[in-house]
Amino acid sequence: MATDVLAEKFESRLHLTTKTVGEDRIKKAKENNEDVAVLSTFLPTPDDGKSKSAFECALKEGCLLGDPKKMITGTKKMEYKTRQWHEKCFCCCVCKTAIGTKSFIPREQEIYCATCYEEKFATRCVKCNKIITSGGVTYKNEPWHRECFTCTHCNTSLAGQRFTSRDEKPYCADCFGELFAKRCTACSKPITGIGGTRFISFEDRHWHNDCFICASCKTSLVGRGFITDADDIICPECAKQKLM
Ligand SMILES: [Zn+2]
Ligand SMILES: [Zn+2]
Ligand SMILES: [Zn+2]
Ligand SMILES: [Zn+2]
Ligand SMILES: [Zn+2]
Ligand SMILES: [Zn+2]
Repeated sequence: MATDVLAEKFESRLHLTTKTVGEDRIKKAKENNEDVAVLSTFLPTPDDGKSKSAFECALKEGCLLGDPKKMITGTKKMEYKTRQWHEKCFCCCVCKTAIGTKSFIPREQEIYCATCYEEKFATRCVKCNKIITSGGVTYKNEPWHRECFTCTHCNTSLAGQRFTSRDEKPYCADCFGELFAKRCTACSKPITGIGGTRFISFEDRHWHNDCFICASCKTSLVGRGFITDADDIICPECAKQKLM
């Protein structure tokens, strides 16, 4: 009988903040290749025909403005790592909502809004299938809400409790004892063995030490000879009397 332990609780991976920072900070972030997105305004461009090629919307033929190279003075563009978008085109790949100044999560080449990212990638509880935002527990490498990780039999929470598993299912100590432990032939309560409970076994029957008594004179039979009489156990003296 092994007692399992829960892995320490884990926190959600999503802790996003959006900040507005100055030009210098942006320059530094770009130089250090920091994980920041920069929203800036298209400035009037000198009509020399060269600088136009500097911008290309990352959506390419999917560009919402219909022309990935279009630069409209006064509108905004988003830069993130090596790519650029029109402000409108910088949108969640799932719900297509423009990110604007909200938080986003890049994954592979896609951009997600926080809601869609959670929906798609967040850790889900194996019991209720809902997202675990904080303080879940891990059992057999699977994530659970603390409140969902309960005894298979009585449903009390097992987080922070001692529990025992059987057939890959967790049980509280009380239920485990009730359901699976050997039972005393005399009082029919479980013999759990937890805390060193001593018991007597004879053939396929078991007794608590205190319950192992003569059916007729009630003296303890622990360490003595005894005789079985149908379902009862009796001491040699009472057996003798019965025969006379
Ligand atoms: Zn575009
Ligand atoms: Zn979305
Ligand atoms: Zn749950
Ligand atoms: Zn229980
Ligand atoms: Zn008993
Ligand atoms: Zn007796």
